[in-house]
Amino acid sequence: MAANKPSIAIIGGGISGLTLAIALIRRGLNVQIYEQARAFGEIGAGVAFGPNSIRAMKTCSPDIFDAFEKVATINQWPEKKNVWFDFHDGYDKDSPVGQEKLLFTLSSESGNNAVHRAHFLDEVIKLVPDEITHFRKHLDTIEQPIGQGKVKMTFHDGTAAEADAVIGCDGIKSRTRAWMLGGDDTPGAAPVYTHKYAYRGLIPMQRAVDALGDDNARNSKMHLGQDGHILTFPVSKGQTMNVVAFYTNNDDWPDAQHLTKSTEKKHVYEDFKHFGPTVQKIIDMLEPNLDCWAIFDTGDHPMQAYNKGRVCCLGDAGHATSPHHGAGAGMCIEDTAIMAELLAEKTVHDAGIKGIEAAFQAFNDCRLERTQWLVQSSRRTGDLYEWRAEHVGRDIEKIHTECKERDEKIWNVKIDDLITEAKQHLRTLLS
Ligand SMILES: Cc1cc2nc3c(=O)[nH]c(=O)nc-3n(C[C@H](O)[C@H](O)[C@H](O)COP(=O)(O)OP(=O)(O)OC[C@H]3O[C@@H](n4cnc5c(N)ncnc54)[C@H](O)[C@@H]3O)c2cc1C
Repeated sequence: MAANKPSIAIIGGGISGLTLAIALIRRGLNVQIYEQARAFGEIGAGVAFGPNSIRAMKTCSPDIFDAFEKVATINQWPEKKNVWFDFHDGYDKDSPVGQEKLLFTLSSESGNNAVHRAHFLDEVIKLVPDEITHFRKHLDTIEQPIGQGKVKMTFHDGTAAEADAVIGCDGIKSRTRAWMLGGDDTPGAAPVYTHKYAYRGLIPMQRAVDALGDDNARNSKMHLGQDGHILTFPVSKGQTMNVVAFYTNNDDWPDAQHLTKSTEKKHVYEDFKHFGPTVQKIIDMLEPNLDCWAIFDTGDHPMQAYNKGRVCCLGDAGHATSPHHGAGAGMCIEDTAIMAELLAEKTVHDAGIKGIEAAFQAFNDCRLERTQWLVQSSRRTGDLYEWRAEHVGRDIEKIHTECKERDEKIWNVKIDDLITEAKQHLRTLLS
């Protein structure tokens, strides 16, 4: 290994791959990113981060946190800065628009800290040196030698590359995961449809304020109902209101290769026809033609291990979750902080191949339970929001208690404690 430090190949340049690359570079490691697209890119939608994710960003690298701060938006009313969401009764047909009955509020130390995905990515990309990025490199397969020698990656364009270790940050349809599990037909290689889908929209803030009133437009709101829920929160420093409208039914998704399909607004009205006037007003503001996003996850066949020798899965590649906790990307950043801290250990470099294997083993042993719990808990949370959860139904007090307990399990973790635990485990593995 050159200069004793391992060379790391990262497959995929989403939130996981880019934050990992930056965190590793800041720790002096030699990193290359292989991304299938012709450029880094994110969709125009919002993504919220809880306090655990923000703590993890700071550990990854202060400049990732600075990039986040540049574009992050919290609730616009100062008295609501710690509110994660106000939960309203979306079925309330008696109250006028904007005055739906408030059921309960969940708060955290950072409130609803959200970014426009593309804006966050633009800031993060500035921290990634051009010379380490390789575009149009769709990973096809991996060959890992027994013992010494580099791990070889082969790409769809016929080219190949080598590294001491490979970290798959290639998202929900990860090739790295499929390779680790033994091929495309192995259970768990492909994600599964959760029978929920989402319509998304971005509404200019003044339009949202005019339609819904100041509180509803400028602060994070969740509108609960039977088989569906709609959430809104401000992004782009309060210039835009992000909308995500989820719905559940028993139909199959028509094409598992494509997780989005074009649709028309009349289908949104149809799905939410039993909801009250505030929800109808939100739908009025969506575009007439919009995309519908299938919610897939890896919850039916959870990975039993994220590591296989010197290959490891990180982020959605290992634990793609439905978005109901608003914590999937945050969990990716927790992964990144822990992986970067483990790979930066001198004992790992000194131990050569065995060092990398031990670092990946320690990562797996410390991350598997929490991240796979998130996948299952997110499914349950989606059902709680939609009055479908077993033994709970429409019992608002029970929904409140269970959501709070689950969210606090995500938020209250201290990244420093997770890292200390992971490093102690690494020492045991290497001793
Ligand atoms: C509707 C919705 C709302 C969400 N809201 C939130 C939220 O509010 N808060 C939150 O924390 N999380 C949220 N999430 C989850 C979050 O979006 C994901 O957890 C996160 O984006 C995953 O990042 P990633 O980098 O692991 O994967 P991805 O973002 O999927 O990135 C994977 C990258 O790998 C590349 N790639 C894929 N295959 C290959 C290959 N074979 N070779 C080379 N490159 C490849 C892709 O092009 C892509 O650039 C939401 C998800 C959804 C669907």
